[in-house]
Amino acid sequence: MKTVDEVWELLRWEISARQAVETDLADALGGVLREDVRAPEDQPAFDRSAVDGFVVGAGDSSEVFCIVGEIRAGDGRRHELTAGHALRISTGAAVPAAGEVIMLEDAAESEGMVRFSRRGRDHVRRRGEDARAGDVLVAEGTRLGPGAIALLASVGCIRPKVTRGIDILHVATGNEIVAADANPGPGQIRDSNSPLVAAWARTKRMRLEQKRVGEDAEALRHAIEGRRDVLLVSGGASVGGHDCTAEVLDAAGFEILVTKVAVRPGKPLIVGRRGEEWAFGLPGNPLSHFVCLHVFVDVALTAMQGGSGAPAMFRGPVLADVNGNPRETWWPASEETTGLRPLRWASSGDMTALGTANALVRVPVSGLAAGREAEFIRVT
Ligand code: AMP
Ligand code: MG
Repeated sequence: MKTVDEVWELLRWEISARQAVETDLADALGGVLREDVRAPEDQPAFDRSAVDGFVVGAGDSSEVFCIVGEIRAGDGRRHELTAGHALRISTGAAVPAAGEVIMLEDAAESEGMVRFSRRGRDHVRRRGEDARAGDVLVAEGTRLGPGAIALLASVGCIRPKVTRGIDILHVATGNEIVAADANPGPGQIRDSNSPLVAAWARTKRMRLEQKRVGEDAEALRHAIEGRRDVLLVSGGASVGGHDCTAEVLDAAGFEILVTKVAVRPGKPLIVGRRGEEWAFGLPGNPLSHFVCLHVFVDVALTAMQGGSGAPAMFRGPVLADVNGNPRETWWPASEETTGLRPLRWASSGDMTALGTANALVRVPVSGLAAGREAEFIRVT
Protein backbone atom coordinates (compact mmCIF):
# COMPACT_ATOMS: atom_id res chain seq x y z
CA MET A 1 0.00 0.00 0.00
CA LYS A 2 1.40 3.41 -0.99
CA THR A 3 1.10 6.67 0.93
CA VAL A 4 -0.49 9.77 -0.59
CA ASP A 5 2.93 11.44 -0.77
CA GLU A 6 4.41 8.45 -2.58
CA VAL A 7 1.67 8.56 -5.21
CA TRP A 8 2.20 12.30 -5.68
CA GLU A 9 5.95 11.77 -6.10
CA LEU A 10 5.33 9.09 -8.68
CA LEU A 11 2.95 11.25 -10.71
CA ARG A 12 5.11 14.34 -10.41
CA TRP A 13 8.28 12.65 -11.62
CA GLU A 14 6.90 10.32 -14.23
CA ILE A 15 4.38 12.51 -16.04
CA SER A 16 5.67 14.95 -18.61
CA ALA A 17 3.98 18.05 -19.96
CA ARG A 18 2.09 17.68 -23.20
CA GLN A 19 2.64 19.89 -26.20
CA ALA A 20 1.94 23.64 -25.99
CA VAL A 21 -0.16 25.25 -28.70
CA GLU A 22 -1.27 28.78 -29.47
CA THR A 23 -4.95 29.11 -28.65
CA ASP A 24 -7.64 31.72 -29.10
CA LEU A 25 -7.94 33.66 -25.88
CA ALA A 26 -11.66 32.85 -25.79
CA ASP A 27 -10.79 29.13 -25.63
CA ALA A 28 -7.94 29.43 -23.15
CA LEU A 29 -9.98 29.46 -19.93
CA GLY A 30 -8.86 26.64 -17.64
CA GLY A 31 -5.71 25.98 -19.67
CA VAL A 32 -2.19 26.18 -18.26
CA LEU A 33 -0.05 28.97 -19.69
CA ARG A 34 3.23 27.73 -21.15
CA GLU A 35 5.08 31.00 -21.56
CA ASP A 36 5.70 34.06 -19.41
CA VAL A 37 3.53 36.85 -20.76
CA ARG A 38 5.26 40.21 -20.23
CA ALA A 39 3.98 43.75 -20.42
CA PRO A 40 4.79 45.02 -23.93
CA GLU A 41 4.73 48.60 -22.61
CA ASP A 42 4.20 50.38 -19.31
CA GLN A 43 0.80 49.73 -17.66
CA PRO A 44 -1.00 52.05 -17.83
CA ALA A 45 0.70 53.23 -21.00
CA PHE A 46 -0.07 56.93 -20.35
CA ASP A 47 -1.05 59.06 -17.36
CA ARG A 48 -4.79 58.66 -16.88
CA SER A 49 -7.27 60.50 -14.74
CA ALA A 50 -8.63 58.37 -11.89
CA VAL A 51 -11.69 60.58 -11.38
CA ASP A 52 -14.19 62.82 -13.13
CA GLY A 53 -13.28 66.45 -12.53
CA PHE A 54 -11.00 69.18 -13.83
CA VAL A 55 -7.37 69.42 -14.85
CA VAL A 56 -5.25 72.53 -14.37
CA GLY A 57 -1.52 73.25 -14.49
CA ALA A 58 0.11 71.66 -11.43
CA GLY A 59 1.74 74.90 -10.32
CA ASP A 60 -1.18 77.16 -11.19
CA SER A 61 -2.39 78.76 -7.95
CA SER A 62 -5.14 80.90 -9.47
CA GLU A 63 -8.17 81.46 -7.18
CA VAL A 64 -10.66 80.82 -9.91
CA PHE A 65 -10.32 79.12 -13.30
CA CYS A 66 -12.07 79.63 -16.60
CA ILE A 67 -13.39 76.35 -18.05
CA VAL A 68 -12.04 76.30 -21.60
CA GLY A 69 -12.65 72.77 -22.82
CA GLU A 70 -12.99 69.09 -22.09
CA ILE A 71 -10.90 65.92 -22.32
CA ARG A 72 -13.01 62.81 -22.51
CA ALA A 73 -11.80 59.20 -22.26
CA GLY A 74 -10.45 58.15 -25.65
CA ASP A 75 -9.61 61.72 -26.69
CA GLY A 76 -6.22 61.45 -28.40
CA ARG A 77 -5.70 65.18 -29.07
CA ARG A 78 -2.92 67.17 -27.47
CA HIS A 79 -4.20 69.59 -24.85
CA GLU A 80 -2.24 72.59 -23.52
CA LEU A 81 -2.71 73.86 -19.98
CA THR A 82 -2.51 77.60 -19.59
CA ALA A 83 -2.58 79.76 -16.47
CA GLY A 84 -6.06 80.44 -15.10
CA HIS A 85 -7.65 77.87 -17.40
CA ALA A 86 -9.19 74.51 -16.50
CA LEU A 87 -10.36 71.65 -18.67
CA ARG A 88 -13.05 69.21 -17.69
CA ILE A 89 -11.68 65.66 -17.59
CA SER A 90 -13.34 62.23 -17.42
CA THR A 91 -12.16 59.11 -15.61
CA GLY A 92 -9.71 57.26 -17.85
CA ALA A 93 -8.87 60.26 -20.05
CA ALA A 94 -5.22 61.07 -20.80
CA VAL A 95 -3.87 63.77 -18.47
CA PRO A 96 -1.82 66.50 -20.19
CA ALA A 97 1.84 66.82 -19.10
CA ALA A 98 2.28 68.65 -15.78
CA GLY A 99 -1.46 68.56 -15.15
CA GLU A 100 -3.12 68.32 -11.76
CA VAL A 101 -6.50 66.62 -11.60
CA ILE A 102 -9.08 67.85 -9.08
CA MET A 103 -12.14 65.74 -8.47
CA LEU A 104 -15.64 67.05 -9.18
CA GLU A 105 -16.53 66.73 -5.48
CA ASP A 106 -13.82 69.34 -4.65
CA ALA A 107 -15.02 71.83 -7.29
CA ALA A 108 -17.69 74.56 -7.31
CA GLU A 109 -18.80 75.72 -10.76
CA SER A 110 -20.63 78.86 -11.72
CA GLU A 111 -21.12 80.60 -15.05
CA GLY A 112 -18.23 78.97 -16.87
CA MET A 113 -15.84 79.42 -13.95
CA VAL A 114 -14.68 76.93 -11.32
CA ARG A 115 -13.13 77.21 -7.85
CA PHE A 116 -11.56 74.37 -5.91
CA SER A 117 -11.97 73.67 -2.21
CA ARG A 118 -9.05 71.25 -2.15
CA ARG A 119 -5.88 70.98 -4.20
CA GLY A 120 -2.82 68.75 -4.16
CA ARG A 121 -4.47 65.33 -4.01
CA ASP A 122 -3.13 62.89 -6.56
CA HIS A 123 -5.92 61.68 -8.80
CA VAL A 124 -3.75 60.42 -11.64
CA ARG A 125 -2.95 56.80 -12.44
CA ARG A 126 0.64 57.32 -13.53
CA ARG A 127 2.15 55.64 -16.54
CA GLY A 128 3.84 52.38 -15.42
CA GLU A 129 2.44 52.39 -11.88
CA ASP A 130 0.74 49.02 -12.34
CA ALA A 131 3.57 47.35 -14.30
CA ARG A 132 6.69 48.34 -16.18
CA ALA A 133 7.39 47.32 -19.77
CA GLY A 134 8.97 43.86 -19.63
CA ASP A 135 7.50 42.83 -16.26
CA VAL A 136 5.97 39.34 -16.16
CA LEU A 137 2.20 39.77 -15.98
CA VAL A 138 1.15 36.11 -16.07
CA ALA A 139 3.79 33.49 -15.34
CA GLU A 140 4.32 30.21 -17.16
CA GLY A 141 2.48 27.41 -15.34
CA THR A 142 -0.50 29.58 -14.34
CA ARG A 143 -3.92 28.03 -14.85
CA LEU A 144 -5.86 30.73 -16.65
CA GLY A 145 -8.92 31.99 -14.80
CA PRO A 146 -11.20 34.84 -15.86
CA GLY A 147 -8.90 37.44 -14.28
CA ALA A 148 -5.79 36.23 -16.12
CA ILE A 149 -7.79 36.14 -19.37
CA ALA A 150 -8.72 39.79 -18.82
CA LEU A 151 -5.09 40.71 -18.11
CA LEU A 152 -3.87 38.95 -21.27
CA ALA A 153 -6.54 40.72 -23.32
CA SER A 154 -5.48 44.10 -21.90
CA VAL A 155 -2.01 43.70 -23.43
CA GLY A 156 -3.22 42.23 -26.71
CA CYS A 157 -2.10 38.68 -25.97
CA ILE A 158 -4.91 37.08 -27.95
CA ARG A 159 -3.15 33.80 -28.84
CA PRO A 160 -1.55 32.61 -25.61
CA LYS A 161 0.46 29.42 -25.60
CA VAL A 162 -1.33 26.83 -23.47
CA THR A 163 -1.12 23.06 -23.21
CA ARG A 164 -3.18 21.29 -25.83
CA GLY A 165 -6.48 19.80 -24.67
CA ILE A 166 -5.87 16.61 -22.67
CA ASP A 167 -7.92 13.67 -23.92
CA ILE A 168 -9.71 11.77 -21.19
CA LEU A 169 -11.98 8.77 -21.29
CA HIS A 170 -14.14 8.11 -18.22
CA VAL A 171 -15.86 4.75 -18.06
CA ALA A 172 -18.43 4.23 -15.32
CA THR A 173 -18.85 0.55 -14.53
CA GLY A 174 -21.57 -1.21 -12.58
CA ASN A 175 -24.68 -3.26 -13.28
CA GLU A 176 -26.61 -1.15 -10.82
CA ILE A 177 -26.02 2.30 -12.30
CA VAL A 178 -28.35 4.06 -14.68
CA ALA A 179 -28.11 7.48 -16.31
CA ALA A 180 -29.10 10.40 -14.09
CA ASP A 181 -32.10 11.13 -16.32
CA ALA A 182 -33.46 7.58 -15.90
CA ASN A 183 -35.65 6.30 -13.09
CA PRO A 184 -33.73 3.69 -11.11
CA GLY A 185 -35.50 0.32 -10.92
CA PRO A 186 -35.29 -1.94 -7.85
CA GLY A 187 -31.65 -2.23 -6.76
CA GLN A 188 -30.48 0.42 -9.19
CA ILE A 189 -28.93 3.83 -8.50
CA ARG A 190 -28.22 6.87 -10.63
CA ASP A 191 -24.73 7.36 -12.00
CA SER A 192 -23.39 10.46 -10.24
CA ASN A 193 -19.71 9.86 -10.98
CA SER A 194 -20.06 10.65 -14.68
CA PRO A 195 -21.63 14.09 -14.09
CA LEU A 196 -18.99 14.73 -11.40
CA VAL A 197 -16.16 14.06 -13.84
CA ALA A 198 -17.86 16.01 -16.62
CA ALA A 199 -18.21 19.04 -14.36
CA TRP A 200 -14.61 18.76 -13.16
CA ALA A 201 -13.29 18.39 -16.72
CA ARG A 202 -15.05 21.55 -17.86
CA THR A 203 -13.05 23.66 -15.44
CA LYS A 204 -9.72 22.30 -16.73
CA ARG A 205 -9.98 22.55 -20.47
CA MET A 206 -10.04 18.84 -21.18
CA ARG A 207 -11.54 16.81 -23.99
CA LEU A 208 -13.71 14.28 -22.26
CA GLU A 209 -15.41 11.19 -23.58
CA GLN A 210 -17.68 9.16 -21.29
CA LYS A 211 -19.10 5.65 -21.40
CA ARG A 212 -21.13 3.46 -19.10
CA VAL A 213 -20.72 -0.32 -19.02
CA GLY A 214 -21.89 -3.22 -16.87
CA GLU A 215 -19.66 -4.96 -14.39
CA ASP A 216 -18.04 -7.15 -16.97
CA ALA A 217 -14.39 -7.56 -17.95
CA GLU A 218 -15.16 -8.08 -21.61
CA ALA A 219 -17.33 -4.96 -21.81
CA LEU A 220 -14.66 -2.90 -20.03
CA ARG A 221 -11.92 -4.29 -22.29
CA HIS A 222 -13.94 -3.20 -25.28
CA ALA A 223 -14.77 0.23 -23.80
CA ILE A 224 -11.13 1.17 -23.21
CA GLU A 225 -9.82 0.27 -26.66
CA GLY A 226 -7.86 3.04 -28.32
CA ARG A 227 -5.48 5.61 -26.93
CA ARG A 228 -5.81 8.83 -24.99
CA ASP A 229 -3.84 10.78 -22.40
CA VAL A 230 -5.83 9.64 -19.38
CA LEU A 231 -8.20 6.78 -18.80
CA LEU A 232 -10.46 6.88 -15.74
CA VAL A 233 -12.42 3.81 -14.74
CA SER A 234 -15.12 4.26 -12.12
CA GLY A 235 -15.83 1.25 -9.93
CA GLY A 236 -14.44 -2.25 -9.89
CA ALA A 237 -11.20 -1.08 -8.27
CA SER A 238 -11.58 -3.12 -5.11
CA VAL A 239 -11.01 -6.79 -4.29
CA GLY A 240 -14.53 -8.16 -4.87
CA GLY A 241 -14.92 -11.12 -7.18
CA HIS A 242 -16.35 -8.88 -9.92
CA ASP A 243 -13.80 -6.08 -9.56
CA CYS A 244 -11.85 -6.37 -12.77
CA THR A 245 -10.28 -2.96 -13.45
CA ALA A 246 -6.70 -3.98 -12.56
CA GLU A 247 -6.92 -7.18 -14.56
CA VAL A 248 -8.35 -5.44 -17.63
CA LEU A 249 -5.75 -2.65 -17.49
CA ASP A 250 -2.99 -5.21 -17.13
CA ALA A 251 -4.28 -7.20 -20.11
CA ALA A 252 -4.42 -3.98 -22.16
CA GLY A 253 -0.70 -3.46 -21.57
CA PHE A 254 -0.77 -1.02 -18.66
CA GLU A 255 1.93 -1.45 -16.06
CA ILE A 256 0.10 -1.38 -12.71
CA LEU A 257 2.07 0.92 -10.41
CA VAL A 258 -0.38 1.33 -7.53
CA THR A 259 -3.28 -0.83 -6.34
CA LYS A 260 -3.96 0.63 -2.89
CA VAL A 261 -3.32 3.95 -1.18
CA ALA A 262 -3.38 4.67 2.54
CA VAL A 263 -6.15 7.21 2.23
CA ARG A 264 -9.71 7.48 3.47
CA PRO A 265 -11.95 7.48 1.58
CA GLY A 266 -10.46 6.01 -1.57
CA LYS A 267 -8.15 3.19 -0.57
CA PRO A 268 -8.73 1.01 -3.64
CA LEU A 269 -7.03 3.32 -6.14
CA ILE A 270 -5.33 1.80 -9.15
CA VAL A 271 -2.70 3.69 -11.13
CA GLY A 272 -1.38 2.24 -14.37
CA ARG A 273 0.86 3.44 -17.14
CA ARG A 274 1.26 2.49 -20.78
CA GLY A 275 3.98 4.70 -22.26
CA GLU A 276 2.69 8.24 -22.02
CA GLU A 277 -0.87 7.12 -21.22
CA TRP A 278 -2.03 7.01 -17.61
CA ALA A 279 -4.94 5.04 -16.21
CA PHE A 280 -6.71 5.43 -12.88
CA GLY A 281 -9.06 2.87 -11.45
CA LEU A 282 -11.16 4.97 -9.08
CA PRO A 283 -13.44 3.56 -6.42
CA GLY A 284 -17.07 3.81 -7.46
CA ASN A 285 -18.30 5.17 -4.14
CA PRO A 286 -19.19 8.79 -4.87
CA LEU A 287 -17.23 10.35 -2.02
CA SER A 288 -14.17 8.23 -2.79
CA HIS A 289 -14.50 9.11 -6.47
CA PHE A 290 -14.60 12.78 -5.54
CA VAL A 291 -11.57 12.58 -3.25
CA CYS A 292 -9.43 10.51 -5.66
CA LEU A 293 -10.30 12.82 -8.53
CA HIS A 294 -9.16 15.90 -6.64
CA VAL A 295 -6.27 14.46 -4.68
CA PHE A 296 -4.68 12.25 -7.37
CA VAL A 297 -6.09 12.65 -10.88
CA ASP A 298 -5.91 16.42 -10.60
CA VAL A 299 -2.20 16.22 -9.80
CA ALA A 300 -1.59 13.98 -12.82
CA LEU A 301 -3.58 16.25 -15.05
CA THR A 302 -1.79 19.37 -13.85
CA ALA A 303 1.57 17.72 -14.49
CA MET A 304 0.41 16.86 -18.02
CA GLN A 305 -0.69 20.42 -18.56
CA GLY A 306 2.69 21.77 -17.51
CA GLY A 307 1.65 23.17 -14.13
CA SER A 308 3.30 22.33 -10.86
CA GLY A 309 2.90 18.63 -10.14
CA ALA A 310 2.02 19.38 -6.53
CA PRO A 311 -1.52 20.04 -5.38
CA ALA A 312 -2.17 23.62 -4.30
CA MET A 313 -2.24 23.40 -0.49
CA PHE A 314 -3.71 25.96 1.86
CA ARG A 315 -3.77 26.12 5.65
CA GLY A 316 -6.52 27.00 8.07
CA PRO A 317 -8.02 26.02 11.42
CA VAL A 318 -10.69 23.33 11.64
CA LEU A 319 -13.86 24.44 13.45
CA ALA A 320 -14.63 21.08 15.09
CA ASP A 321 -12.82 17.94 16.23
CA VAL A 322 -12.08 15.52 13.41
CA ASN A 323 -11.35 11.88 14.12
CA GLY A 324 -8.21 10.25 12.80
CA ASN A 325 -7.90 6.82 11.27
CA PRO A 326 -4.99 4.46 10.54
CA ARG A 327 -5.12 5.93 7.01
CA GLU A 328 -4.88 9.69 6.49
CA THR A 329 -8.29 11.15 5.73
CA TRP A 330 -9.31 13.81 3.21
CA TRP A 331 -12.33 15.22 4.94
CA PRO A 332 -14.96 17.19 3.00
CA ALA A 333 -15.38 20.63 4.54
CA SER A 334 -16.82 24.01 3.80
CA GLU A 335 -14.40 26.89 4.03
CA GLU A 336 -15.87 29.71 6.07
CA THR A 337 -14.40 33.05 7.11
CA THR A 338 -13.27 31.68 10.47
CA GLY A 339 -11.99 28.32 9.26
CA LEU A 340 -12.96 24.95 7.87
CA ARG A 341 -16.26 23.40 8.90
CA PRO A 342 -15.97 19.59 8.67
CA LEU A 343 -19.05 18.13 6.97
CA ARG A 344 -20.85 15.03 8.14
CA TRP A 345 -20.18 11.70 6.44
CA ALA A 346 -20.01 8.20 7.80
CA SER A 347 -19.60 6.10 4.68
CA SER A 348 -17.87 6.78 1.38
CA GLY A 349 -21.28 6.26 -0.18
CA ASP A 350 -22.66 9.31 1.68
CA MET A 351 -23.14 12.15 -0.73
CA THR A 352 -24.87 14.97 1.12
CA ALA A 353 -21.55 16.59 2.09
CA LEU A 354 -20.84 17.15 -1.61
CA GLY A 355 -23.61 19.72 -1.81
CA THR A 356 -21.55 22.27 0.13
CA ALA A 357 -17.98 20.89 0.17
CA ASN A 358 -15.52 23.39 -1.26
CA ALA A 359 -12.45 22.02 0.51
CA LEU A 360 -10.86 18.71 1.45
CA VAL A 361 -8.99 18.82 4.74
CA ARG A 362 -5.97 16.56 5.17
CA VAL A 363 -6.50 14.85 8.52
CA PRO A 364 -3.45 13.09 9.92
CA VAL A 365 -3.70 9.64 11.47
CA SER A 366 -3.87 11.24 14.94
CA GLY A 367 -6.91 13.34 14.01
CA LEU A 368 -7.38 17.08 14.58
CA ALA A 369 -8.74 18.95 17.59
CA ALA A 370 -11.00 21.94 16.99
CA GLY A 371 -8.93 25.08 16.38
CA ARG A 372 -5.89 23.19 15.05
CA GLU A 373 -4.35 24.33 11.77
CA ALA A 374 -4.76 21.86 8.95
CA GLU A 375 -3.67 21.57 5.36
CA PHE A 376 -6.43 21.59 2.79
CA ILE A 377 -7.06 21.77 -0.92
CA ARG A 378 -9.83 23.74 -2.57
CA VAL A 379 -12.26 21.76 -4.64
CA THR A 380 -14.40 24.43 -6.27
P1 AMP B 1 -17.51 -0.35 -6.76
O1 AMP B 1 -16.34 0.55 -6.65
O2 AMP B 1 -17.86 -0.69 -8.17
O3 AMP B 1 -17.35 -1.56 -5.90
O4 AMP B 1 -18.73 0.47 -6.19
C1 AMP B 1 -18.75 0.89 -4.84
C2 AMP B 1 -20.05 1.60 -4.54
O5 AMP B 1 -20.17 2.77 -5.33
C3 AMP B 1 -21.27 0.78 -4.81
O6 AMP B 1 -22.22 1.05 -3.80
C4 AMP B 1 -21.77 1.29 -6.13
O7 AMP B 1 -23.14 1.11 -6.31
C5 AMP B 1 -21.40 2.75 -6.05
N1 AMP B 1 -21.16 3.30 -7.40
C6 AMP B 1 -20.40 2.72 -8.34
N2 AMP B 1 -20.38 3.48 -9.45
C7 AMP B 1 -21.16 4.55 -9.21
C8 AMP B 1 -21.53 5.70 -9.97
N3 AMP B 1 -21.08 5.87 -11.22
N4 AMP B 1 -22.33 6.61 -9.40
C9 AMP B 1 -22.77 6.43 -8.12
N5 AMP B 1 -22.44 5.40 -7.36
C10 AMP B 1 -21.64 4.44 -7.89
MG1 MG C 1 -19.12 -1.84 -9.17
